[in-house]
Amino acid sequence: MCGIVGYIGRAEALPVLMDGLRRLEYRGYDSAGVALLNGGSIESRKAVGRIANLAEAIQQNPVHGKTGISHTRWATHGGVTFENAHPHSDQSGRLALVHNGVIENYQTLREQLLAKGHQFKSQTDTEVLAHLVGEAVDGAGNRTKAGLVEAVRMALRQVIGTYGIAVIHADIPGVMVGARRGSPLVLGIGRDEHFLASDVSAIVAHTREVVYLNDYEIVAVEAERFDISTVSGSGADFQVSTVEFSADAVDKGTFPHYMLKEIYEQPNSIRDAMRGRLSSEEATAKLGGLEMTNAQLRAVDRIVLSGCGTAFHSALTGEYIIENLAHIPVECEIASEFRYRNLPMDRDTLVFVISQSGETADTLAALRESQRKGHRTLGICNNVASTIARESDGGVYMHAGPEIGVAATKSFTSQLVILTLLGLLLGRIRHLSHAEGRTIISEMEKLPDLVAKTLELDAEIEKVARKYARANNFLFMGRQANYPIAMEGALKLKEISYISASGYPSAELKHGVIALVNEETPSVFIAPQDAVFDKNVSNIEEVKARKGPVIAIGTEGDTALAKICDDVILIPHAPDYLTPILSVIPLQLFSYHIGVALGCDVDKPRNLAKSVTVE
Ligand code: GLU
Repeated sequence: MCGIVGYIGRAEALPVLMDGLRRLEYRGYDSAGVALLNGGSIESRKAVGRIANLAEAIQQNPVHGKTGISHTRWATHGGVTFENAHPHSDQSGRLALVHNGVIENYQTLREQLLAKGHQFKSQTDTEVLAHLVGEAVDGAGNRTKAGLVEAVRMALRQVIGTYGIAVIHADIPGVMVGARRGSPLVLGIGRDEHFLASDVSAIVAHTREVVYLNDYEIVAVEAERFDISTVSGSGADFQVSTVEFSADAVDKGTFPHYMLKEIYEQPNSIRDAMRGRLSSEEATAKLGGLEMTNAQLRAVDRIVLSGCGTAFHSALTGEYIIENLAHIPVECEIASEFRYRNLPMDRDTLVFVISQSGETADTLAALRESQRKGHRTLGICNNVASTIARESDGGVYMHAGPEIGVAATKSFTSQLVILTLLGLLLGRIRHLSHAEGRTIISEMEKLPDLVAKTLELDAEIEKVARKYARANNFLFMGRQANYPIAMEGALKLKEISYISASGYPSAELKHGVIALVNEETPSVFIAPQDAVFDKNVSNIEEVKARKGPVIAIGTEGDTALAKICDDVILIPHAPDYLTPILSVIPLQLFSYHIGVALGCDVDKPRNLAKSVTVE
């Protein structure tokens, strides 16, 4: 959450900062601010709300400088106000600091600083950190580049919590200091210029050479050089990586929203999730990143899948897929619960944590807790340089490309593809025959085309979405592997349009939910031609008997649904274990079009942010 961009070099910093902030706005959009170092003083500009508001403030009151830091905020401590917008300053007013994360002991530190006469302008935890660094600079009286690094080090040793920070000081020009623990920070290496950012997408237009900082690392960044050390004062090993995607990959192109672009990318992202991972020869999946032999995989007798939000829904769907294909018991745990629950896990339990960003704080904590218990813990992530990718004992990358829309879409279907690959791999080690494996592979290979065909339903789905856009409450229903898809459909609608929606197994209706059914409450049934089709139809009849409008997602060629439902969307046929990858697509488009019809900001929904790096 929150975005940081910093620049030091020979060019004007502001355009780099503003472009970077716009690209990071999906990480938080409560307020934004910049601070630039120019001729021995720091000037800052801030605005509540979107980056556009900050741009307007700067237009009215321009700032210049070749060193600068900036921030887009997702508030954790202190309301969404001008005073709480970053950058924050210290007691002297000579320092500027931006921060992503949470300083957990900020109250105690604040009281200590107040007792020493410090005065605070905001309610944030961040301002306390700015004061600590400033106090260390003033205390040591060492106004050199090394002195600023040492002051940051001293301050960070006092804080408990998470941080990605960038700091500049008016008396110490020519340097910008960054540090991280728990919140991502990347250094971009240019020619006579350097960048700091929370996410490479902010700086990839300027450089593809980057260093992903590790926890407890501090970087002193100058125009021509950088030095990486640790909070404890030792030197640090680092590696320069090359970013694989270009700036175009993080542009909207001709699409009105990232969300729509990402929905439409799914034929490709699904192909990329499978690329090089299917072996017709052995009739199985190849997942080298697991770094496990078949004998080790054979010994696994239980799987735990953990994630948050949409990733948790992919875990729930994965439970059906893996149990169906591999006959191994699977348990799903919401990551934030997992870490505080003392889940009994047998020795041969394999744990997967699922996170698009690979930075989700709760999921990272689940990973660490599982590793602490001695379990092999693998990651399913999109962001290859993320903390979860680095800390896990192996895993599978989604290769979905950057996902900017706050509501997850393509990452979800990529996760489902990976869980299917896993089911195939584990199944082939156990009871699935070569012929069965071959059939699964050939069905999977058809997926990109089937997804493309499903996307052709867009205009039809938009019409249905507009028809129901004014409803205040929606029910989503599905059975078996489509039950978590119903939950995901409801989550998408809540996120994008702020309409109350909930997802249930269809048969749960009569155990309570049916009380909500009336003429104004549409029910969306996912009812493909599968083993429970007739059961779904009975549940639809129960809703119709109570005058509830029904929208059904069925299988091409179906004629039964049209006779009883108000609206029907027919998706291509696929085997049960692949249907969820197709059935979720109309639901993604449905929420998108309702959100647009209601005038909502679908890429940046209220109160949300991509990549939830706070607990
Ligand atoms: N805790 C800080 C604040 O509330 C930083 C939040 C963020 O990561 O945006 O201002």
